[in-house]
Amino acid sequence: MAQVKKAAKYVYYFGGGKADGNESMKNLLGGKGANLAEMAGHPKLKLPVPPGFTLTTEVCTAYYNNKKKYPVVLDAQVKKALAAVEKEMGKKFGDVNNPLLVSVRSGARKSMPGMMETVLDIGLNEKTIEGVIKQSGDARFAYDAYRRLIMMYADVVMEKAGGIEPKGGKGIRKVLDEKLEKIKHKQGYKFDTDLTVNELKALVKDFKATVLKVLGKPFPDDPYEQLWGSIGAVFSSWMGKRACEYRRIEKIPDEWGTAVNVQAMVFGNMGDTSATGVAFTRNPGNGENKFYGEYLLNAQGEDVVAGIRTPAPVNEYSKNDQSKHLPTLEKTMPAAYKQLFDIQKRLEKHYKDMQDIEFTIEKGVLFMLQCRVGKRNGVAAVRMASDMYNEKLIDAKTAIMRVQPNQLVELLLPMLDPKIQAATKPIAKGLPAGPGGAKGRVVFSSNDAVEWASRGEKVILVREETSPEDVDGMHKSQAILTTKGGMTSHAALVARGWGKCCIVGCADIEIHSETKSFKANDGTYIKEGDWLSLDGTKGLVYLGSMALVDIDLDKNMAYKNLMKLVNKTRTLKVRTNAETPEDAAHAMKFGAEGIGLFRTEHMFYGEGSEQPLFLLRKMIMSKTEPERRKALNDLFVFVKKDIKDTMEVMKGYPVTIRLLDPPLHEFVPHDVSKLQALSKELGISMSMLRRRVLALHENNPMLGHRGVRLGVSYPEITEMQVRAIFEATAELAKAGKTAFPEIMVPVTCTENELIHQKIIVDRVYKEVCESKKMKKIPYLYGTMIEIPRAAIKADKMAEIADFFSFGTNDLTQMSFGFSRDDVGGFLPKYMDLKVLHDDPFQTIDQDGVGELVKMGTDRGRKTKPNLKVGICGEHGGDAESVKFFHRVGMNYVSCSPFRVPIALLAAAHAAIESGKGK
Ligand code: ADP
Ligand code: MG
Ligand code: MG
Repeated sequence: MAQVKKAAKYVYYFGGGKADGNESMKNLLGGKGANLAEMAGHPKLKLPVPPGFTLTTEVCTAYYNNKKKYPVVLDAQVKKALAAVEKEMGKKFGDVNNPLLVSVRSGARKSMPGMMETVLDIGLNEKTIEGVIKQSGDARFAYDAYRRLIMMYADVVMEKAGGIEPKGGKGIRKVLDEKLEKIKHKQGYKFDTDLTVNELKALVKDFKATVLKVLGKPFPDDPYEQLWGSIGAVFSSWMGKRACEYRRIEKIPDEWGTAVNVQAMVFGNMGDTSATGVAFTRNPGNGENKFYGEYLLNAQGEDVVAGIRTPAPVNEYSKNDQSKHLPTLEKTMPAAYKQLFDIQKRLEKHYKDMQDIEFTIEKGVLFMLQCRVGKRNGVAAVRMASDMYNEKLIDAKTAIMRVQPNQLVELLLPMLDPKIQAATKPIAKGLPAGPGGAKGRVVFSSNDAVEWASRGEKVILVREETSPEDVDGMHKSQAILTTKGGMTSHAALVARGWGKCCIVGCADIEIHSETKSFKANDGTYIKEGDWLSLDGTKGLVYLGSMALVDIDLDKNMAYKNLMKLVNKTRTLKVRTNAETPEDAAHAMKFGAEGIGLFRTEHMFYGEGSEQPLFLLRKMIMSKTEPERRKALNDLFVFVKKDIKDTMEVMKGYPVTIRLLDPPLHEFVPHDVSKLQALSKELGISMSMLRRRVLALHENNPMLGHRGVRLGVSYPEITEMQVRAIFEATAELAKAGKTAFPEIMVPVTCTENELIHQKIIVDRVYKEVCESKKMKKIPYLYGTMIEIPRAAIKADKMAEIADFFSFGTNDLTQMSFGFSRDDVGGFLPKYMDLKVLHDDPFQTIDQDGVGELVKMGTDRGRKTKPNLKVGICGEHGGDAESVKFFHRVGMNYVSCSPFRVPIALLAAAHAAIESGKGK
């Protein structure tokens, strides 16, 4: 016997306390449809939702798979659902005496703001309008609805979906809108609501004639043609150019399709006891648990969002500068407000998250038109997660997952006053390299920055690019603005590390260093001393001095509360890259559990570097070992103090100290007075000194005489540093303090280098133990893994090393063969053309470099199961990378102090996502 296949269900009804669908069916019903069903039909909600039905996303898919034809059963299913709506409303679609009007609304699985279309007031024509007037007793309202329908229909269905290119770029909506504006202007009206019935009547006539003239087709009077035309327009908007582009960026697959919601109209434009509005169950700006929203009296649909009139606040709490004089909904319609207030409470409790809701009040009666999880900024996200956990609305894991790691950045830095910023036009735009806001007076050199700052001036350093010599000036500046360089340029890296506001690659401005000035593309001319304000989060440059609002993390109880949960959940430890006691202390306050990278050479840059740098240069220019040892002896004092101070701050947490890494040529002086001082100190002639300088020249210093290679050529350099480390540790121990150094050998490629250096370490260790009369000094000996060969030979490296720290900056550089300092020349193009999808210096390349990291970790642990493994590259502060390092099984990540909170949260996310949390 042949089986009769049951026809697929393409239409889902909701209304009157019932619904075929529910919230869990977002894939089939779209976000809007699923939530309308939930609000209307869930036994605990049964909210006043105008009845309607949803055409599923499967209709959309079938439509596109079947040459834009609907499934045959659709028509019957729509008729049946429409009949149910008619029954619920006690009206009939297309009826002359008591007509039902409907809206057709799009609704994809994931919201696609502004991409999809809505048509309201469907079912109105020359005949049904009489019925509407009779039923409502309000001709003005009826014609207002009619002109809205013609405008939306002509725009959405006839022009956009009809594929008509507007003449001269001016769409039909604009053409019609200008007609409305003309009347308002002529009559001296301020608002749409000022128009009289007769004016609206005339306008409708004019609209119809215009539509016919401009689009070559009449506006259809048949209600069913209007309905199917609108449904078809929503489905075709799914494949519209705008929507396709948006999906590509947001990685939403085309196959998802959109649903279509057909819903009985309720009217917020029926006079002064009617209104429409949007609201949030909590303040999305700061997270406060206060009902927050706006409404418009006598208005319909998107009037609120469109900004035609200033919306009024729903309650006292929602007042702002523009709306403070307007009457609240609470005052004008106390009963409807109370009902709305109770419903939003119930909705939030039901969904267990902040809801963004749309409502309409028709002659004092409230209707719910939409709800969804509300968008929020970082500050609000933290506040809500913490509060909702305290209120026992959500559990710890949910609270943690509610905040995206990068959202924390907003909590850490001062920012430009958002109100003032919104009212100001930027003069230029660059890449957002260091977040937060800053203001200061423009200077064009590091020396000027230092000099001005010493006079108490706040400055912004503007340069084409920066280099290590600029570090001091950068440090003294409020912010850095460069015209060249990318997100991984020197300026960007340094600024991010400090949490300093920074904009790079700002091609909108051109610097004239001779006149100490710059000119922006928009013509603005800026000279030294002029005020600028920067928004490093968005990469925007403003003229003048804008107010900043400060953020004190210590006072942020919500943040502290959330971090407590984070620390209970994560297994991956987080350390910091720090080289001064101040940086270290800062990172500790943020929750760092050690230093993962202490660069010994930092003391040769910036403030206070004069003397150690001179001694280092003396050492570099030495020809013989005795000469070199003498210089090293003097330097020893500085190195030891530096290490000791930092270890003291770290109170026994591990401190990974990297032995001298940069190529020596980087420190060679070039200016004459410095050379003269050196020649005098060394007792050699200038020409002899010059010869030594030349001898140090390298063609490719980054791959030259640096890192462990220095220690192999000049063992006394290693010896001095190791002695400083052991003595500092011993002295701290003697003073009753704990310290735990980890000696890290950089740029290794073979275990023999590690063996060579270990012999020196062992000898010095014995000597210091004896001289300090200590039986033992705690320490670990390990290496940085930053050359691919070291990762490949990790099993051998682990025979000597107690720990690995992956230096993923160099490992990326050497794996890709991309010079980190030169990627600006080609990487942007690579990303544009999708040759590469992400900047590998920002997010670890999991497939390639990540594979090396994983292999190195596994091979190392095969030799030494307890091998401590961490990472100290920029990637340690990147949330996606942190999650990867968790999965690889690392013990810790290390990042700059300001990224510590982000890494902590990312580590907790990783633990929850992998089901391996505590
Ligand atoms: P979007 O997805 O762009 O928010 P919507 O489908 O929510 O579009 O429609 C926009 C606005 O139209 C809604 O905010 C609501 O005010 C109004 N609207 C939609 N359907 C109806 C209806 N049945 N009755 C009254 N107003 C409606
Ligand atoms: Mg909406
Ligand atoms: Mg390196």
